[in-house]
Amino acid sequence: MLVLKQYQLCGRCLARQADVIDGKSAEKCFICRGLMDSLDTIVDRVVKAIKPYEFQTMLVGATLPTQVYEREDALRARLKIRGRESVKSQLTREVGLRLARKTGKKVDYRRPDVIINLTIDKEGNTAVLATARPVAFEGRYVKKARGLPQKQDRCPMCQGKGCPLCDYSGISGYDSVEGILVQQAMAKTGGQTPRISWIGSEDQNSLVLGSGRLFYIRISDPKKRRLKRLPGRDGVSARITRILDDIPDFQQRFAVKTRILVKSDRQFSIQDIRKLRSLAGSEVKFENKKTVTKKIYAVHAKRVSKDEIALTITADGGLPIKQFVGGEEYMDPNISKLLESRCQCVSFDILAVDFQ
Ligand SMILES: [Zn+2]
Ligand SMILES: [Zn+2]
Repeated sequence: MLVLKQYQLCGRCLARQADVIDGKSAEKCFICRGLMDSLDTIVDRVVKAIKPYEFQTMLVGATLPTQVYEREDALRARLKIRGRESVKSQLTREVGLRLARKTGKKVDYRRPDVIINLTIDKEGNTAVLATARPVAFEGRYVKKARGLPQKQDRCPMCQGKGCPLCDYSGISGYDSVEGILVQQAMAKTGGQTPRISWIGSEDQNSLVLGSGRLFYIRISDPKKRRLKRLPGRDGVSARITRILDDIPDFQQRFAVKTRILVKSDRQFSIQDIRKLRSLAGSEVKFENKKTVTKKIYAVHAKRVSKDEIALTITADGGLPIKQFVGGEEYMDPNISKLLESRCQCVSFDILAVDFQ
């Protein structure tokens, strides 16, 4: 190990090469050029960068200039030193240890809440970047006022990726159910570029009642990972039922209970009500690239005026309600054909959405 003394090394860089050391630590280190002596400064900056985050676990990563590795490799090749810790892993390990001591949070290599990246340039300047693992929420929303569409257009500038124009929401505005949920979920978590997935869809003039429609929202880089409810506005509000890592793959079938206001160009009779009730148990077939079949499980029909019926049906999700009433497109059975009159869907409201 005497040869090791030919090199000017700092205490840490020396300790990485050999277990027994009787050297003095050098002012100007051959390998790290002082980087390992600036750990306290780096840790202080990381503490500042992670301050906005609520988290339990973290992981520190680093990118060092290639020259640092080259110098250590050259020294090790010459002195035949093998199988020792690298400069990078010592750096990230020691920063992790100090952070854990300072913050009380744990280092987790498998699934950290926050990833801290240190990028060190040739001059030894360190850039600190903290990013949180995305979080997803399962929730149900209700819509108690008519008028807002369910979905929002993508941001015309970034098409959903997130950019300064859309405040990293990825959408064109906040005047829809999606817009309200996205805006409030972003505000409450401090995250960005949310993605929403819905179970089923509704019309601009539909209400969503009962326990509400199931949806999932995923948020990137959240500062807070917990969410209980979105207070909403304009009649829309949501409660969060589960916190997840990501939006699940759902191929699950679901049934929707829908209340439809049907208007006819003639008076409704008691026979019409009977015919409508006979739809229970039947299957509706229609073309959507291929033939699709949706089952109707239950029907409740009630005359509300001479030419209007309130029809409540429970059917497989994805039954196009307006076409089912109007019968404009090939759909069998459909209400206009069944009643031999021109019927139209005045409005429809979602009363319940449930998995089967
Ligand atoms: Zn050093
Ligand atoms: Zn954008």
